Amino acid sequence: MKIVPEARIAELVTPADAYAAVEQVFAAMARGEAGNFPVVREALGGGRLYGFKSGIDRAGAVLGVKAGGYFPGNAERGMTNHQSSVFLFDPDTGQPRAMVGGNLLTALRTAAASALSIAHLARADARVLGIVGAGHQAAFQLRAAARVRTFDRVVAWNLHPDMLPRLGAVAAELGLPFQAVSLEELGSEADVIITITSSFAAILEDGHIRRGTHLACMGTDTAGKQEVAAAILGRARVFTDEVAQSVSIGEAQHAVAAGLLAAADITPLGAVITGAQPGRHVPDEITIFDGTGVALQDLAVAAVALSRAEERGIAVEVAV
Ligand code: NAD
Repeated sequence: MKIVPEARIAELVTPADAYAAVEQVFAAMARGEAGNFPVVREALGGGRLYGFKSGIDRAGAVLGVKAGGYFPGNAERGMTNHQSSVFLFDPDTGQPRAMVGGNLLTALRTAAASALSIAHLARADARVLGIVGAGHQAAFQLRAAARVRTFDRVVAWNLHPDMLPRLGAVAAELGLPFQAVSLEELGSEADVIITITSSFAAILEDGHIRRGTHLACMGTDTAGKQEVAAAILGRARVFTDEVAQSVSIGEAQHAVAAGLLAAADITPLGAVITGAQPGRHVPDEITIFDGTGVALQDLAVAAVALSRAEERGIAVEVAV
């Protein structure tokens, strides 16, 4: 069995690699060649969350599980609150193939998913990027979005405004003017909005969102979390990584519970990637990508990390 340590991931997997791997696996899901298993997510007490996301990509011969969660005491100890490791198995024998550090990979694959949605669903003339959230993932989201579209500027809002300058520094690095704005300004100015917070109540209300906007809602990955008002999903065309997760732990859970949206109304982004389903129909409709985060994203990027590590002799071999 091989170990690919967290500390080596940055030199092995680029944002472009993550984008290509996630695009490929979303397409495999849409073709029925790959599937995710039900998510296990348990509260351990004291704000700690622990769980498993697993799945199989038959086409890519990848089987595995991401284990990990959220450990709020870590920051004080100099560690990231979100901790995860990916385990890959031989799909024919079940033998363990590798353990791959999953922290940076999680950020890369999550940012790749929203960037894919922007590439496929945002209006061709989208110029202003709005970001709601300024935590660990937000910077990855900004970088990935800027890779797929040419934006003129970034407007951002965060519940904790003191966190915004760090995101502004990333925008400056990308050569993009950055402005902290109110939610009203963000909704009226942004053509594309990424939400990436740990909110449990709608931040963006229906009145904030103008027609033609594309929203990538990336923060809601657990029952009870919410970033945008259910009414917005009721009048939008809704896309997702996986419909089962979207209606249970994703942003769509609230619109479905309120009877504003049915699972059958939600389109997997993979089907847009393969061309089986249309993306945006008309410039002035609202499109929403409900990015819940699926196991196959984790496995796809972990498989890239493993094969690069093997090529470069970086993977640590251990006997099992
Ligand atoms: P973080 O702890 O670094 O940042 C949290 C962000 O949420 C900050 O901007 C903070 O100001 C904001 N926030 C906190 N409480 C809030 C509230 N009550 N209302 C509004 N904003 C609030 O977290 P992160 O690593 O950046 O992750 C952000 C979210 O994305 C988390 O909910 C995480 O679970 C989720 N996530 C989703 C995926 C996916 O695939 N969809 C992957 C990774 C993380």
